[in-house]
Amino acid sequence: MPELPEAETIARGLRGALLDQAIRDVHVVHPGIVVQPQEAFTAAIRHRVVVAVERRGKNVVLRLDDGSVILINLGMTGSLLPFPSVPPEETAPTHPTLVLHFDSGAVMVFDDTRRFGRAEWLTSRGWTERSALLGPEPLSASFTARTLHAALLASRAPARSWLLDQRRVAGVGNIYANEALFLAGVHPARSARSISAEEASALHRGLRSVLRKAIDQGGTTIRDYRNAEGEPGRYARRLLVYGREGRPCGRCGAPIRRIVFGGRSAFFCPQCQPGTADDAN
Ligand SMILES: [Zn+2]
Repeated sequence: MPELPEAETIARGLRGALLDQAIRDVHVVHPGIVVQPQEAFTAAIRHRVVVAVERRGKNVVLRLDDGSVILINLGMTGSLLPFPSVPPEETAPTHPTLVLHFDSGAVMVFDDTRRFGRAEWLTSRGWTERSALLGPEPLSASFTARTLHAALLASRAPARSWLLDQRRVAGVGNIYANEALFLAGVHPARSARSISAEEASALHRGLRSVLRKAIDQGGTTIRDYRNAEGEPGRYARRLLVYGREGRPCGRCGAPIRRIVFGGRSAFFCPQCQPGTADDAN
């Protein structure tokens, strides 16, 4: 599932292809992918020019010249693939859900095997309101160890679940939450409010470090994620705990453990991330 580094990689990959391009036509292949009625969606974005390609949380945001935006949530398996012209059938994406055609002849295909992704048109004001519902960007200057610690103290949720909540911090999913907790030496099931200032500082550092390194590697591909060039991310081989159940911890050699809570697997080293009495498990 694309998280912050994958959405960032996709946004960067699209920028060169889409910037300053006018949308000539819109082909909604699967109406369920578009949040509003497809006629309204199409009418709102046709002939508009893409003035910026940004990321917010796990979303890719295409800013248009009238201040409105196309908000794209990549869901589980979504990718956004630009082509200089309509690709021949042999090389065309296999699960297109939405295709934008540009004046230059270029196209952008929203390809999504499982179709959990969504595209939504929002006015400038609508986008401001929507964005305000998301937590801070973890790589922004305003996200500090101190603000993180204060926010953690207000919650009894398990640390891993806290990190996955997009209202708390935007863009973190299960892969990077587990990796950051390992780097901080914090057991994933520990309650958020049990985390000390020192641990919050280590978590802040670990989270930013793992997100930056993953962006440098073009993201992590477990199964489906592809960048705008259709290539997998290279961070999977750097993972320290995620998906490594039973394999030795790189720090102490103890076998990595997996537990399930909140409907998701959590991976951790039982020695480097000792549990406490208030563990969920
Ligand atoms: Zn260890």
